[in-house]
Amino acid sequence: SLTLGIVGLPNVGKSTLFNALTRNDVLAANYPFATIEPNVGVVPLPDERLGRLAGIFSSEREVPATVSFVDIAGIVKGASEGAGLGNKFLANIREANAICQVIRVFADDDVVHVDGRVDPASDIETINTELILADLQTLEKAIPRLEKEARTVKDRRPALEAANKAREVLDSGRTLFAARSEVDGPLLRELSLLTTKPFLYVFNADEGVLTDEAKLKELRELVAPADAVFLDAKVEAELLELDEESARELLESIGQHEPGLHALARAGFHTLGLQTYLTAGPKESRAWTIAKGATAPQAAGVIHTDFERGFIKAEVVSFDDLVEAGSMAAARAAGKVRMEGKDYVMADGDVVEFRFNV
Ligand code: GDP
Repeated sequence: SLTLGIVGLPNVGKSTLFNALTRNDVLAANYPFATIEPNVGVVPLPDERLGRLAGIFSSEREVPATVSFVDIAGIVKGASEGAGLGNKFLANIREANAICQVIRVFADDDVVHVDGRVDPASDIETINTELILADLQTLEKAIPRLEKEARTVKDRRPALEAANKAREVLDSGRTLFAARSEVDGPLLRELSLLTTKPFLYVFNADEGVLTDEAKLKELRELVAPADAVFLDAKVEAELLELDEESARELLESIGQHEPGLHALARAGFHTLGLQTYLTAGPKESRAWTIAKGATAPQAAGVIHTDFERGFIKAEVVSFDDLVEAGSMAAARAAGKVRMEGKDYVMADGDVVEFRFNV
């Protein structure tokens, strides 16, 4: 499954956040025999629709979609030069599908900031610079090879052009993700460049920042159009120890109405370009993860590869129509349930029953 790699400068709260993520791990909690990798946190995607569906279908249980975060060992300036941690760090990032940077905005004189002060823009710049330098190194090696190939194989010329364009973007200090409308993503894919990955920013803040609307707006604008999530990593860890009532009180005391991990799961899911569709029955109401733009047979394939191969039709009703009708039978009677074929592109929140041959 797709993952977000957590990166950030030392002492910004990565471990604190990651511990909260793993303590909230749905695999650890629900699947005692699942293989749990120590550096992966699999968290549920909060979805209020599941509770509603479970009510309508009298489902025994609710199964949410999940989002996976991978803890990537600390980045330090000079990582791209391959010093010590550097190589391992870059290899780990290469495997992740998106980058989740934790940025410190909490003030605490007892916690040393590596650069001596809290400065989000400079922290982002530091990480970007390391990733940009790493990509430039990759291109320095790849371009001569592509030039040689392009000389003999005409089909390779576009790949060379894309690589040269990428180098130009990186030389100007921008990430390939920031310049994604200017570069040819599909042609660059074979080079596994790091800065083509989408970014998500987590601001590890304290109450002062979390309740300061002007500051939040400023930080949101700093990283836009990437998603920004604001949370207090220490509080997130504490919340998981508390009962519902005490957790709510603690959140309210820092001006929040939901755990930051919920917002983080949603933003992570969004950054990865994913969406969900729903199935419901007496056994379970469940959210399934698909890529945006997935067709009905591809969606069926997430449940079982046989469903994709033997796909005949999908019986689809939108969540809102189903809730309004109150039952599947009423939704059918109201003409809200559609029969969709193999070209149907799934919409978020479709409630589906697949018909297939086995
Ligand atoms: P990492 O190096 O990025 O993994 O950072 P850690 O998670 O180890 O945190 C570094 C220090 O900052 C630890 O002493 C944490 O307790 C502290 N810390 C982490 N998050 C917060 C926070 O939100 N507020 C405050 N005041 N301290 C924090």
